[in-house]
Amino acid sequence: MTDRLTVKSPWPAYEWPAGKQSATLLSVDVDACVPYMWAHRDGVPNRLGTLEIRRFGPRTGLYRLLDLFARYGVKASFYVPAHAAETNPEILPALLEGGHEIGLHGYFHEIVAEVADEEFTGALEASLDLFVAQTGRRPVGFRSPAWEMTPHMLREVARLGLSYDSSLSGFDHPYEIDGVVEIPVQWATDDAIFFKFEGGGRDKWPYQSGRAVLQDWLAEWRAVHRFGGLFTLTVHDWISGRAQRIALLEELLEAIAGQGDAWVATAADIAAHHATSANAGRFAVQGGLPDPIGPRRFGRDHG
Ligand SMILES: [Zn+2]
Repeated sequence: MTDRLTVKSPWPAYEWPAGKQSATLLSVDVDACVPYMWAHRDGVPNRLGTLEIRRFGPRTGLYRLLDLFARYGVKASFYVPAHAAETNPEILPALLEGGHEIGLHGYFHEIVAEVADEEFTGALEASLDLFVAQTGRRPVGFRSPAWEMTPHMLREVARLGLSYDSSLSGFDHPYEIDGVVEIPVQWATDDAIFFKFEGGGRDKWPYQSGRAVLQDWLAEWRAVHRFGGLFTLTVHDWISGRAQRIALLEELLEAIAGQGDAWVATAADIAAHHATSANAGRFAVQGGLPDPIGPRRFGRDHG
């Protein structure tokens, strides 16, 4: 057991269910080939390398993750671009069978900076329809591709009656932004920045040692637990389904499972806890854009 650190700040301490000091969200973004298809939306290159790297996810990686979670008896939140579900119709039923949450993640993994408001709305509505058609259930959560949001997107999440968004990082526990419950994420605990290596000179970050990343993630999880926050881990089917990364996640889950006062829950359950507990309304912020600094710059326009 680790004592919780209380920090004097304008915000109260976040309250977790009785007996719990922190929460852990295991989230999987089942991107498969869809971001590649989005990047090449006007013409797919005559090459198989990257496609096969990514096809490993829905063929093998996803099922290794499901098996791992079943062995530890934990439920996760899976965010699936609708195109991945459309082209691999076995995915959503397998997630449901495991008792996991299924959330929205764009139709074609649309990158926010590359689409207009109407396209975002169309993708969200079409994804909802496809998920309902394939599962008979309506998802309650949204996670934006590449974790970018706009004020319009928050309004649409609210308009469609979704319970939460999970794309932003303004606190390290749930909060509300423009009235939408936010289940925060963090880049430091996303597998993509460490292991997303596709070759061909396109990679933005060097490949990292799994050992070093595991030590970092364990350190972050222990520290978040001390502060009484939410530890959100984000992995991808085609990245963390590889053998050694499953072994790495197993060590992480072993540590978390041994900490009795750490609550492992889906984002839907965490959002429901937020909305029905004393936390509701205590961490409400506005996401509006600030005025540009321009006119206030020093030493200009004073001649
Ligand atoms: Zn994604």
